[in-house]
Amino acid sequence: MTEQVDVEKTIASLKHHNIEALRASDGDECRKMVLDILPRDASIGMGGSTTVRQIGLLDALRARDYELHDQYEEGISAEENQRRRRAGLTAQYYITGVNAVSEAGELFFLDGIGNRVAAVSYGPERVILVCGINKLVRDEAEAWKRIREKAAPLNAKRFGVDTPCVKTGVCCDCDAERRICNIYVRIHRTMAPGRITLILVDEDLGF
Ligand code: SF4
Repeated sequence: MTEQVDVEKTIASLKHHNIEALRASDGDECRKMVLDILPRDASIGMGGSTTVRQIGLLDALRARDYELHDQYEEGISAEENQRRRRAGLTAQYYITGVNAVSEAGELFFLDGIGNRVAAVSYGPERVILVCGINKLVRDEAEAWKRIREKAAPLNAKRFGVDTPCVKTGVCCDCDAERRICNIYVRIHRTMAPGRITLILVDEDLGF
């Protein structure tokens, strides 16, 4: 998080934009909060998120009796992976992370395929975003800067793709075949109050 970010102002701005904003002291509390929100038989889609894994939420979802469209399950075919991503778009709940959140209460995402931003924008009835405090930024310029200079190169490395940033650690706005930086989305506000819940965790999580 940038030193000068006003956390309380950010939360108030999110609420003003119809985004429910909750706060957790750590990943354990966040995981419990998410599980408390989910009905026992919920259908759930997921978008790529290191944070969801880090706080043990992915394992917790797998261990319970949800209808989980889990495209991250090891050993499934590419076709099944795509089928689960699509099914996640019409699930009741969608759980993922966010790349940056500004003091003005805007959400910023960078996607390679676009299933995550599609679901967050429209589709599932409820969206739950888990967000480490390191994702807070002062404004839009800082949001894209953190995404370009930090999140994207680290994610490219995580995916093991053959892009220049994996070797250098720096984005060069490449034209690589496996470029992961394809769809940039800024959500200013949501029409349906409370459709999106963001849980801000007082820890550095994800990239
Ligand atoms: S645009 Fe290319 S070089 Fe830049 S972060 Fe994305 S994949 Fe890496």
